Amino acid sequence: MTIAETTVFEAFESNVRGYCRSWPTVFDTARGAWLTDETGKDYLDFFAGAGALNYGHNNPVLKQALLDYLTGDGITHGLDMSTVAKRRLLETVRDVVLTPRGLDYKVQFPGPTGANAVEAALKLARKVTGRTAVLNFTNAFHGMTLGALSVTGNAAKRAGAGVPLVHATPMPYDGYLGGPEVSAADDLSWMRRALDDSSSGLDRPAAVIVETVQGEGGVNVARPEWLRELSTLCADRGILLIVDDVQMGCGRTGPFFSFEVAGITPDIVTLSKSIGGYGLPMALVLMRRELDLWAPGEHNGTFRGNNAAFVTAEVALRHYWSDGRLEAATLAKGDRIARHLADFTATLPGITTRGRGLVQGLVFDDASQAAKVCRTAFELGLLVETSGTRDEVVKLMPPLTVTDEEITHGLAILTQAVEVVRDTH
Ligand SMILES: *Cc1c(COP(=O)(O)O)cnc(C)c1O
Repeated sequence: MTIAETTVFEAFESNVRGYCRSWPTVFDTARGAWLTDETGKDYLDFFAGAGALNYGHNNPVLKQALLDYLTGDGITHGLDMSTVAKRRLLETVRDVVLTPRGLDYKVQFPGPTGANAVEAALKLARKVTGRTAVLNFTNAFHGMTLGALSVTGNAAKRAGAGVPLVHATPMPYDGYLGGPEVSAADDLSWMRRALDDSSSGLDRPAAVIVETVQGEGGVNVARPEWLRELSTLCADRGILLIVDDVQMGCGRTGPFFSFEVAGITPDIVTLSKSIGGYGLPMALVLMRRELDLWAPGEHNGTFRGNNAAFVTAEVALRHYWSDGRLEAATLAKGDRIARHLADFTATLPGITTRGRGLVQGLVFDDASQAAKVCRTAFELGLLVETSGTRDEVVKLMPPLTVTDEEITHGLAILTQAVEVVRDTH
């Protein structure tokens, strides 16, 4: 077969489909950082399932554990029953992730998506504080269900709700008011002022929800000092701090939790995307022990016990997070990509770069160029996607397990794509 057969998708699959429009082929198999389509063409994957494939496609270590579990008739669907797979996972989360970081969180299994984890976090914050208002940030993305959308910035996504999105107030994210020349304390001055002025019109919020790096919002990176300032501001006023680590957690920015760079301890943390390890649906909500005021079954869901994901999650944590090697490698690879992008764009007007760890962005003044770069990269065999308000950012997010040779290859394609787009402009 030399041409991918796409008729059934175009004629039959809902118009809501998205990524298949950016990448108009039919993928068949995948391994590590590579996908292969049904015509046999290979694509290097610098998208990694929007951050759900930090350990690569069909990671052999995780696959073997999954195959052994399935072959042994391990529990696949378990609601929230106690299972051997869940016990192993909880013990590993405690011993590998939480205890070494001095974190005393309890672990909730919400439904298996990031949005469901966010819904659970918001519900819990409201229940614990007895307040309804939540503060979120400009350009935030927290998921597509109503509660998560209410704290999401993007107008088109919000419009899809079809009902008013209420009980959330957006605040300026780090850099929104002026970039690095504005100090972190000044950046948060409006929020502090509004919170402390009883006539500001801002209701006392239950929580603040924040991403340390806004992935969908355009690879906007919050400074550690801004995150610390935010954390103090919340703590001083009895407002719960929720870090949505669905995309930037599980090592995307280097350390397991993206907030470690700031040395803060959020009250509530959401994880999904790469926590299942193998690309299987799974999510967690972590909460400070004393916040666990849930009544049994108060946040429920049929697929909270995806035990196959518990198996791959457990093996991924043990295999990749028992020592500091993955974190160090991610930071080194991220630095290398960041340096290449900075050098390469230094002489190109209208393009800037930003990122942290293995999430890096090429920011185009002319947003149409970003889409063209992604399209050209696809034709040349590299998968990258845009993000940001105007889709002006080409986001690079390879699996953390990407090799140095693959990075070289991907950057060569990306460089070529940028040159092609600028030459034809
Ligand atoms: C992807 C994402 C979500 C939503 O996760 P879904 O699994 O798509 O519901 C929430 N928050 C952040 C930061 C995300 O990147």
